[in-house]
Amino acid sequence: MTSLWLDRAAPVDDDPLPTEEQLDVVVAGAGLTGLTTALLLARAGLRVACVEARHVGAVTTGHTTGKVSLLQGTHLSRIRRHRSQSLASAYVDSNREGMEWLLRFCADHGVEVQRRAAVTYAATHDELGSVEDEHRAAGSLGLPVTWQERLDVPFPHVGATVLPDQAQLDAVQVLLALVEQLREHGGTLHQGHRVVSVSRTGEPVVGLERGGELRARHVVLATGTPVLDRGAHFARLEPMRSYALAFTGATALDGMYLSAGSDARSVRDAPGGVLVVGGSGHVVGRTRSEREHLEELRAWSARHYPQATETHHWSAQDYRTPDGLPMVDRLPGSRGRVHVATGYEKWGMANAVAAARTISGDILGEVPPWARELHGRAPSASSAAEVARINLGVAASLAAGAARVARERLPGAGAAATARECGVVGVCTHLGGLLKWNDAEETWDCPLHGSRFTPDGQVLEGPATRPLKRRTAPDQ
Ligand SMILES: Cc1cc2nc3c(=O)[nH]c(=O)nc-3n(C[C@H](O)[C@H](O)[C@H](O)COP(=O)(O)OP(=O)(O)OC[C@H]3O[C@@H](n4cnc5c(N)ncnc54)[C@H](O)[C@@H]3O)c2cc1C
Repeated sequence: MTSLWLDRAAPVDDDPLPTEEQLDVVVAGAGLTGLTTALLLARAGLRVACVEARHVGAVTTGHTTGKVSLLQGTHLSRIRRHRSQSLASAYVDSNREGMEWLLRFCADHGVEVQRRAAVTYAATHDELGSVEDEHRAAGSLGLPVTWQERLDVPFPHVGATVLPDQAQLDAVQVLLALVEQLREHGGTLHQGHRVVSVSRTGEPVVGLERGGELRARHVVLATGTPVLDRGAHFARLEPMRSYALAFTGATALDGMYLSAGSDARSVRDAPGGVLVVGGSGHVVGRTRSEREHLEELRAWSARHYPQATETHHWSAQDYRTPDGLPMVDRLPGSRGRVHVATGYEKWGMANAVAAARTISGDILGEVPPWARELHGRAPSASSAAEVARINLGVAASLAAGAARVARERLPGAGAAATARECGVVGVCTHLGGLLKWNDAEETWDCPLHGSRFTPDGQVLEGPATRPLKRRTAPDQ
């Protein structure tokens, strides 16, 4: 399934791999985090290479809904449930800086942006309390939100908090402009090279899947969830997948809408009478049928926009943290040389840029004040409880997988028919989770930490770096 944004974009060329050079920084990942970090460092005069496992925008940035907003569903009140007002305020400052940088970059480099109000609405009376909480949290953090009972939309609502003058864009166009600027400042891009290792001693040596090594003073893992396990980030992140549909034949909207319920609906427009509807999310690999989620979203869209014609459908995942704040830090034991950024909880447009600002500031010795406060935070009691909940979910998935194996006496037998047909062993190469067949995307998805594979076992995304094992015997 190709997203509306990737479908419109031309492929990007590669530069020769600088295996003979001593680089200042290797950035792994050509999404919004990686390319912005690479550009900020290249602009400061550093020699930077960005290494991408697949292609520019291949994973979450290429499949986002592209709303750039400081009002983020019910995210601010979620942060306030776990953290102090001062940390929540640092979060808003970081996102304001991220958003301002991004919109300035778009204006300077000809990337189209539409200004829209951001709207968090209650679809039912049950959701009203959480929208009211968000309204209060946003107001207390200095955002000029207003309360509206009625919205000019065809779907049910009973009240909303509204923040004017936010923005929406095509994130793939942003990535293409970032690549162009990166090259203009002496940086290079290398697609189709998966990072599989970073040495622990001395200056980092980055190992690539197809062979070859890169040497640099610093490495930035901008890979969505980190691909090295040394910081055990995977144990504190929940991979959340959701679905999106694009339609033609819709009228322009004056807002970007997101409902407050657990089964959130996201609605925005795009130039040329395009409507984008998203939602119907779940933890990766932990649902009976992904296709049912997609169909549910289709049915909702058909009910409220019967005149619209579907052109694209896709799905994507992002990573939820225990306290709603992103994880931007140095990898333990790396002597400050390996940096990671993850956990934007589907609000990465501003957060990715803020993370890029934090990491580049760390390398260049000029960390913004909000970054010191956000990323120096100690675990809180409520976020520790959330970590426990996340790992209970992982344990339950492990137990369910083990029960399936015991029942059917085959590794990967839960999806055995298809795994055998595909000639792979349906066991994740990250930490051994039993894979689930995703019937919407036709992929192998791991219910433990969100790694995903093609039918023939190539890594698509998540913490795994190695392909699935091939079956060598019929009963394997
Ligand atoms: C359905 C959905 C809707 C969203 N809508 C919004 C929205 O409206 N507004 C908003 O602010 N945010 C939104 N988000 C969140 C936002 O899109 C993401 O947070 C953001 O794009 C993440 O960017 P990234 O660069 O960190 O990750 P990615 O874009 O995933 O980039 C990581 C890159 O690293 C590469 N990679 C992985 N492993 C390796 C390796 N070993 N070696 C080399 N490269 C590797 C991948 O191929 C990928 O290209 C949404 C997310 C989802 C899932």
